[in-house]
Parts: sequence; structure tokens; C-alpha cells
Amino acid sequence: MAKKVVILPGDGIGQEIVPQAVRVMDLLAKEYGIAIETESHLIGGAAYDKTGTPLPKETLAACKAADAVLLGAVGGPKWEGLDYSVRPERGLLGIRKELQLFANLRPAVVFPQLVHASSLKPEVVAGIDVMVVRELTGDIYFGEPRGVTGEGDARRGLNSMVYTAPEIERIARKAFEVARVRSNKLCSVDKANVLECTELWRDVVNEVHADYPDVALSHMYVDNAAMQLVRWPKQFDVIVTGNIFGDILSDEASMLTGSIGMLPSASLGESHAMYEPIHGSAPDIAGKDLANPIATILSVGMMFKYTFGKPEAEQRVEQAVSRVLDAGARTADIATGDETAIGCAEMGDRIVAALGD
Ligand code: NAD
Repeated sequence: MAKKVVILPGDGIGQEIVPQAVRVMDLLAKEYGIAIETESHLIGGAAYDKTGTPLPKETLAACKAADAVLLGAVGGPKWEGLDYSVRPERGLLGIRKELQLFANLRPAVVFPQLVHASSLKPEVVAGIDVMVVRELTGDIYFGEPRGVTGEGDARRGLNSMVYTAPEIERIARKAFEVARVRSNKLCSVDKANVLECTELWRDVVNEVHADYPDVALSHMYVDNAAMQLVRWPKQFDVIVTGNIFGDILSDEASMLTGSIGMLPSASLGESHAMYEPIHGSAPDIAGKDLANPIATILSVGMMFKYTFGKPEAEQRVEQAVSRVLDAGARTADIATGDETAIGCAEMGDRIVAALGD
């Protein structure tokens, strides 16, 4: 099997975590007989500095021609003063839109070794295994009109929450399919009591449910969902929600697992896929060998499952991470009490060694 993967380290800790994930990818590729051809490209602030745009044409063309994209993160204080149209984050939003990566799968799983790393009580977080299915190419992040108009006190900021019925239908179908291979339980999160756009969301999800009668569907308002996620997260199995609610709820879910540095994701479209940790470029720790590479390494596992059709490879990655955690290896974000933290590169070494054992 021959596959093409585009590597986009991006900014900040992206430059540190992605090389560790690529080592894992190469090792698994050899083991599963996949000839992976890789190409690295610029995105985000690094791309803006070199080319004046956060998403150069060459990067987009390479991503379109690839079987999968592996991304680190984009953004940082250096580029915060730029116009929105050329901010690093626009590069990432641009790729998601151009490749039509409408379904973002964000599993939040608590490794038993880390139940004490969460800020919640161990009995609340132990055994959590939640999948957030976030719509990724619509909603208030892309809706028009948008912008700031006027001067002085007359200034007005505007963003538009927009979803069409087909956009809701395709993410709902994806979520029902995901629920089917898990425990047949799906919770759709909206704000249908005050936002008409999400009233349509609820209607369409109910319509799609007719094709999946074996899946138990419930609905929850986003404010309640935010509360329930920290009150009793184990009530959830698969959550489906729009772009902005999913962004916020999945960050919240990440803290259940101990650190945002533990959560991988897969962004899937009809014919493209991108794999990335859910966290950002962490400028506060960038360049210091402090970042946790596990989220990116687990994202490689998702690549083998969803793009290469090798779910057993994903399990191997999870087992390797688990063994390394069993042996006491912790990066600073997941170290508690008197545990000694190791760096990003050493965590990569240990996971690669555990995979090779
Ligand atoms: P962030 O996720 O970068 O960092 C939040 C906190 O989590 C920080 O304290 C950071 O040190 C920590 N953290 C994040 N990843 C970690 C890891 N792997 N290991 C250890 N600690 C980790 O979010 P932010 O600070 O709000 O944003 C920083 C920049 O990243 C901004 O420019 C933002 O726009 C961008 N961003 C990019 C993405 C992306 O590329 N997908 C996502 C979110 C934010």
C-alpha cells in the first residue's frame, strides 16, 4: 500500500510535537507494510512570515493531493496584531473549508494512570470514554455577514451563526454512524431555546434519527451540557454539536482527562482527512522541550484507523502510551505530586521504544 501524507508542523510547540508523531507514523508504516511518502509544508504564522499568507497555494495543493494531513498547531502572540484575513488561524480554517473536513472526531479518554492528574475527583473521571463529534466547516466561524463596522461609539461587531439543512444532515449521519460502533447512544447539543439556527439543527437531527432507530438519541442545551460534563461525564458516550459549541465543550472534556496535551482528533471529509491534537501552539512553553506529544501521537493512531483502515494500529499506539504511563513517564502537564517530568523528545523516545518492544 502506498500513501501520501503532508506534514504541517505549524507554529510554537507544533515544531516539537510533530517530529515525535512522525517517528511513530514511520514505525507503524513499516510494521503494517504501508509505503508512506511524506512532504512538509508551511502553514500558519510560519507560512505568513515566509510568504505573506497563512495558507500558501503550494500547501493547499499538497494537502488536496494527499491521503492524509498531519498538523501540529498554528498561532502565537507574534501574529496577534495582524488583520484577521492573514492570521495564522485563518490558514487552519482555510484548510478545513477547502478540504471540506466537516466532521471533527475528538475522543476524550481517561488513561487510568492519570485519574489523579484531572482537577476533578478520581471517581468522577475514572473510566471516561466520550467522543465529541464537532461540525467543523460551518457555524459562526464561517457565517456571513461578519466584521466590525462604524467608528467610535457607533462601532458594531457582527458574526453570523449559519447552518443549512444539508450541513446538519451530513454531520448528524456521521455521528449516528459513530454511535453505532460504540454504545448506540447519541446526545445532540444545541441552544434551540434561543437560537433559531440551532432549532433547525434539532429538527434535522430528529429527521435523520428516523434512519437510525437503533441509536438512542437525546438532546441537551449547551449550557446544561457544559455543566453535566463536569458533574457526571460518564452519562455521555457520543456527543454531536456545532462548530463553536464543539470547540468549547471538547476543551472542557480535555480537562477531564488531565491535560489538553492528551487529546487527539481526526477531521474527516468525504475524500480528505487531517489529524491534529486539539490543543493550540502553546506559546508559553514553546521551544522549551516541555510539550506533551501524546495528543499528536494518538492522532497518528487515528490516521491509521480512519485513513489506512488499520484500527489495530490505533490500539497499538494507545497500548504503547499506556505502558509508558505505567512506567511513570510524565510530561510536566500531567505530572502530579513528586513525579519527575520528562521532556517532549524523551516522551517520544519512550513511546517509540514501547511500540518496538
Ligand atoms: P493552547 O491550547 O495553545 O494552550 C492552552 C494551555 O494548554 C497553555 O497553558 C499550554 O501551555 C497548554 N498546552 C497546550 N498544549 C499542550 C501540550 N501539548 N503539552 C503541554 N501543555 C499544553 O491554547 P491558547 O493558549 O488559547 O492558544 C495559543 C495559540 O494557539 C493562539 O494563537 C491560538 O489561536 C492558537 N490555537 C491554535 C489551535 C490549532 O492550531 N488547532 C487551537 C487552539 C488555539
